Amino acid sequence: MRHPVVMGNWKLNGSKEMVTNLLTGLDAALAGVEGVDVAVAPPVMYLDLAQRLISQGNSNIILGAQNVDVNASGAYTGDISPEMLKDFGASHIIIGHSERREYHHESDEFVAQKFAFLKEHGLTPVLCIGESEAQNEAGETVAVCARQLDAVIKTQGVEALNGAIIAYEPIWAIGTGKAATAQQAQEIHAAIRAHIASFSAEVAKNVVIQYGGSVKAGNAAELFAMPDIDGALVGGAALDAEGFAAIAKAA
Ligand code: PGA
Repeated sequence: MRHPVVMGNWKLNGSKEMVTNLLTGLDAALAGVEGVDVAVAPPVMYLDLAQRLISQGNSNIILGAQNVDVNASGAYTGDISPEMLKDFGASHIIIGHSERREYHHESDEFVAQKFAFLKEHGLTPVLCIGESEAQNEAGETVAVCARQLDAVIKTQGVEALNGAIIAYEPIWAIGTGKAATAQQAQEIHAAIRAHIASFSAEVAKNVVIQYGGSVKAGNAAELFAMPDIDGALVGGAALDAEGFAAIAKAA
């Protein structure tokens, strides 16, 4: 059975003080929450601190990161390898976020390379896919998502998706306060799952598909009630311990 995963993507936010307050607050606010995996992806600078704080807490918060590079070691200035992430206990690694696709010109093929590299190192890729507003208006949503997924499926086989997480994030909903409605999101999640099922019904049935884009405590329950929505990737609302815990509780 699929298990919902609620993950906080902290993006470029944080300080030692903020990380300490947020994780301490989150540990307390998550007391008694069951049936959902809760993960956080702080900036890599703070993984060491986050790992220490999480190990002192009771909530089994999963540690993640927002990116990885495609080389293991060597002359790659500024890059971070999967083994470095593992060294600090990070397991769930976001790749292909629309902000990286846009600001760092990451292609579908490059993101697929990261996907393979994470799997090779036993890490869980959180593969972000999703359409722009213009693509949405042109009716290209499902085609865009399928193309982004096919970069992985057609090079690594559909089984590569086993154990991975897909985050459907319509770009027009990210950070805008304009989330997709639960019905809109469900329709696309079902289409994404159907696309995967065209390669393997078994993989499609088991793969976690999160929704992302302006998820908050107020709309989480409605989204999570949908049959094909398995938790969320949360940006802005993940920076508040109580609000983020409320989202996890709704899953
Ligand atoms: P948001 O961001 O929740 O602030 O819209 C989601 C994301 O980019 O993962």
